[in-house]
Amino acid sequence: MAISLRDTKSVDHYARALQYLPGGVNSPVRAMRSIDRTPLFVDRAEGAELVDVDGNRFVDYVCSWGPLIHGHAHPEILAAVQAAAVKGTTFGAPTVGEVDLAEEVGRRVPSVEMLRMTSSGTEAAMSAIRLARAATGREKLLKFAGAYHGHLDGLLAEAGSGLATAGLPASPGVPQGATAQTIIVPWNDGEAVVRATEEHEFAAVLAEPYPANMGLTPPHEGFLELLRDRATQNGALLVFDEVISGFRVARGGAQELTGVLPDITVMGKVIGGGLPAAAYGGSRELLQRIAPAGDVYQAGTLSGNPLAVAAGLQTLRMLDDGAYLKLRSTTDRLAAGLREAAGDRPVQVQSTCGLVTVFFSEEPVTDYESAKACDLAAHAAWCRELLARGIYPPPSQFEAWFPSLAHTPEHLDRTLEAAAAAFAEVL
Ligand SMILES: *Cc1c(COP(=O)(O)O)cnc(C)c1O
Repeated sequence: MAISLRDTKSVDHYARALQYLPGGVNSPVRAMRSIDRTPLFVDRAEGAELVDVDGNRFVDYVCSWGPLIHGHAHPEILAAVQAAAVKGTTFGAPTVGEVDLAEEVGRRVPSVEMLRMTSSGTEAAMSAIRLARAATGREKLLKFAGAYHGHLDGLLAEAGSGLATAGLPASPGVPQGATAQTIIVPWNDGEAVVRATEEHEFAAVLAEPYPANMGLTPPHEGFLELLRDRATQNGALLVFDEVISGFRVARGGAQELTGVLPDITVMGKVIGGGLPAAAYGGSRELLQRIAPAGDVYQAGTLSGNPLAVAAGLQTLRMLDDGAYLKLRSTTDRLAAGLREAAGDRPVQVQSTCGLVTVFFSEEPVTDYESAKACDLAAHAAWCRELLARGIYPPPSQFEAWFPSLAHTPEHLDRTLEAAAAAFAEVL
């Protein structure tokens, strides 16, 4: 039976928010428009549970869209942030924590010897592209349809029709010129990659190695290897955007999992432990191009912020081999349970360590076209039913669920019971 959520306080706050914030939010997906409802205002969260201003309690699978691999308000992360805060929140001068974090990342991520920190993934992606263009003396970029690398002009590009197309601005305000150098091809389409790399000289081939921004669509066998080969032959740098996959799908990210090493790695989300931090890194030789070591300019008032660095460092230090075994088993149990709950309905549950997407589709989803072909209305209705049953899913078909180390077997049981009831309601 359909049940509904008591959300009168959220509704009131949203009405006020709409007066002062565009769409009532500071980042579009939070408005929950793609599941056709109004947002819930969060009061607090602990572990895997979120409590809204009306007192509704949810098992949270958004977890701030990825940073919270240890769950909300982890005591050791809070302690690290508090200890840093009492010493001062920002200096605009070097601190030891920045070196510690860079060293820790270098120990984990196979292709990263040196890195530069930024405050957001968008900034890190933008700077990685500047570095790739400087290093190659070229301007063109190869990007995959449905991949998200932040909201920078040059990558806020939409594919036209056809196999490989020059990007069209995906938003008013993005100049034609900014996307004209971006060539867009379908994910998992080796032939399109070969053709594009025969036709153009690229500065960078950009990929989310485990794309999660069109829902989770893992690379086909051999596809990342093909990207590596074609980038090298083309004279382009291979850039892996591991903002989501980094420190999540494996200790050293997708590059460790697959053994395919990029030239530049973009990191974010987990690296800031829930505070604003991101980074781009690669070989020492390449990163020496960044100012003041080299001539490629890039800077930031709050880059390497001591609170964010403390949160990120504590987050990484708690990610040992045992943590990944646990995260993998939690993810596997969740994915298997969701599959079972769906039964013979037209649903695909796709997953890898720390990421799950439930696609409302008859067939496996392998690229942006097949993601867009999903039954978005049924997905939206399912998400609303989950919310009414105390489960907080990412409110869009084009996103992944973020199971964390704070999700217990009991949370999973509650989730799967709700998921089964919600499937029965909508399909
Ligand atoms: C979130 C995300 C970004 C952008 O990071 P922000 O911190 O939101 O600017 C870039 N790339 C990928 C793959 C992401 O998921």
